Amino acid sequence: MGFKANARKHQKKSGEESKKTSPKAKEGVLSCGIKSCDGFADKNMGGRSLSIDNAVETWGDSGYTERKGRVRVCKPCYKVWKKDNKSDMDPY
Ligand SMILES: [Zn+2]
Repeated sequence: MGFKANARKHQKKSGEESKKTSPKAKEGVLSCGIKSCDGFADKNMGGRSLSIDNAVETWGDSGYTERKGRVRVCKPCYKVWKKDNKSDMDPY
């Protein structure tokens, strides 16, 4: 009377929610070079690297940390910089 089919359905569902880490808690390796920011500048997280000149223009002389002549910035910071330098069009 459909009893067996129901039991099987039940078994199939278990074991899918075993992961405890939430997908939101993404952690990077490279920290953002902007001092007032604690984001991550990893490439797979949308990070970019700006030249020192570019960073100075937006964050000032001491608002960033340089790394090998470049400033690694996270995605939000890159957007801030891009807004500041409206040289190319951005659909956002
Ligand atoms: Zn940042």
